[in-house]
Amino acid sequence: MPETRYRPVVAVDLGGTKIEAAMITRSGQLLDQERVPTQANEGKAHVIEQLFGAIDRLVERSGIEVTDTAGVCVAAAGPVDMKRGIISDPPNLPGWGSVPLQSIVRDRFGVDSYLINDAKAAAVGEHLFGAGKGIDNMVCITLGTGIGGGFILDRRLYFGAFGGAGEVGHMTIDINGPKCNCGNMGCWELYASGTAMEKEMSRHLTLGEKSSLQQLFKAGEPVTASHIAEAARKQDPLALKLIAWSANYIGIGLVNLVNIFNPQMVVIGGGLSKIGPILLDPAEAVVKQRASKILADAVTIVPSALGDDIAVMGAAAYVFEKGAI
Ligand SMILES: [Zn+2]
Repeated sequence: MPETRYRPVVAVDLGGTKIEAAMITRSGQLLDQERVPTQANEGKAHVIEQLFGAIDRLVERSGIEVTDTAGVCVAAAGPVDMKRGIISDPPNLPGWGSVPLQSIVRDRFGVDSYLINDAKAAAVGEHLFGAGKGIDNMVCITLGTGIGGGFILDRRLYFGAFGGAGEVGHMTIDINGPKCNCGNMGCWELYASGTAMEKEMSRHLTLGEKSSLQQLFKAGEPVTASHIAEAARKQDPLALKLIAWSANYIGIGLVNLVNIFNPQMVVIGGGLSKIGPILLDPAEAVVKQRASKILADAVTIVPSALGDDIAVMGAAAYVFEKGAI
């Protein structure tokens, strides 16, 4: 049997709409993957069965016994108590409450199991396999429905007291801002997430502003961040205005993070990062302009190298990094 830290990992991305299980090697090779719908509205027990089924099929196809892997690591959105392996009220899995998912997985498969917040997984994944290879101090931000964060400080993932560090989406950007789901007001993700961009666009379209997206909007279709990006590339003035609005707020949050952590690199992942340079370049310009000069000069801002596989690659990286520490 190969030495533990060189066995592959069964990495799982537990999302609100899909569950992805992947077999990943120490060198970052994704051998095989299995995707199933989460069917979150069917409730907790059903979702856990979906997760088990995805792992069962992946393992069966791979010909590798689950007990011959380095373990199963689940990355999930929401607050994770990493000391106790408990996920609490994940926002995309309604009605879950507190679930000891780590021991549930361990008991089912009889292997070491791990549970990690997906944004932290993203940071470890980019550090071991992606854009942040060889970087000692980096911040990884995922811009999606909300905003997640993970910090690699002195080459290690920073956990905080129980693993809750990195809730960057809820740092206050405007003390008089609108109410956030977290209970606070004016949080960063109300301005710089994909959801925020879409909401702001729909506000402008409701006001009747001229845009190529009006037709889609009037047909009752959801106008997504990727629609906005596409329209911006065709020089739609409203789409360009929205991208600039969003980039400015992304930049403002990054200024705070750069000033606090002095990272060499900020890696930007998540759905919004796919918009590319038209969003990330002006955000970087805000950092260069507003962050403390020597800190701003030292940081580079880059898009994620792992793309859609970021959560599973990160979940695997977490197990490998643990083995290496
Ligand atoms: Zn908040």
